[in-house]
Amino acid sequence: MTDILLDDDAGIAQAGALLRDGALVAFGTETVYGLGADATNAAAVSGIFAAKQRPHFNPLICHYAAFEAAFRDVIPNEAARVLAAALWPGPLTMVLPRRAACPVALLTGAGLDTLAVRVPAHPVALALLRAAGRPIAAPSANRSGQVSPTTAAHVMQGLGGRIAAILDSGPCAVGVESTVLDLSGEQPILLRPGGATVEAIEALIGPVIRGGVTPGGALRSPGMLASHYAPSLPVRLNAATVLADEALLAFGPPLSRAGAVFSLSPSGDPTEAAARLFEGLRWLDAEGTRLGLRGIAVMPIPLTGLGLAINDRLSRAAAPRDEAGV
Ligand code: AMP
Ligand code: MG
Repeated sequence: MTDILLDDDAGIAQAGALLRDGALVAFGTETVYGLGADATNAAAVSGIFAAKQRPHFNPLICHYAAFEAAFRDVIPNEAARVLAAALWPGPLTMVLPRRAACPVALLTGAGLDTLAVRVPAHPVALALLRAAGRPIAAPSANRSGQVSPTTAAHVMQGLGGRIAAILDSGPCAVGVESTVLDLSGEQPILLRPGGATVEAIEALIGPVIRGGVTPGGALRSPGMLASHYAPSLPVRLNAATVLADEALLAFGPPLSRAGAVFSLSPSGDPTEAAARLFEGLRWLDAEGTRLGLRGIAVMPIPLTGLGLAINDRLSRAAAPRDEAGV
């Protein structure tokens, strides 16, 4: 049962309380309707992927009520400060390095060291973000493979019955997603064109690389730009036994309890496992390296529900390194 909430004070307060409780709430922004969850709650973020039936994890955008809050979680450079002052609130997403103390769940950023942050311009979205009082992860509120929704009715068609509520603020004004700009490297790179024009961005911070070829001549594709998190230790999938020099990523009852073992979900629940996946890989990588282990064995994870996305990410982690980023 999915509630439609009015965009008055009571509806916004209720939507904020649901988000703080870990529930999924769709809400309108100036671009498209987003499917929101508490970005600091890995189980809630896992619920986004489950509701959208995404076959893979991609990093989600974190929404904030103000730039000060965003820059407490990521490290802005000069260009980011200039863009925030001129274009936020608005349809611009900036990818920046996470701070060490960033409370956002690793799953939100798909395990990466960077985080995509944005302050949306819609007054109801801003009021909701203030009511929630924490960063809200929100991809578009549609099932995977369907078009982005610009009305509450579109959201209901795709996700009705799968999410707690929709905060109805009427049709979206822009209708295209936010521009995604990667500011984490030496030069700004446009990852996705969107509501904020490249011309407006370049007028403020100078030239932006538009995908394609870098000034150095290297070929870049959008798929390569969103590089994937992979542990430094080799990953062995579908392990039926654990070797003496291996750490273990367990699913269901662990094959072994000795040494470095991280249990994704003792009960074998793929949504719980997804919430713990990146945390587990990072911990096993650090602990396995500390103990002088040579690899990470991964127990089989069925291809049901989020198991598909987990297997997708693990097979990238297990691929030879020169293929892992493609
Ligand atoms: P959506 O959530 O559907 O609006 O899509 C978010 C977009 O931002 C996707 O194209 C992501 O690949 C991109 N994105 C989010 N976070 C990052 C990040 N840390 N690094 C690179 N791209 C990102
Ligand atoms: Mg989308």
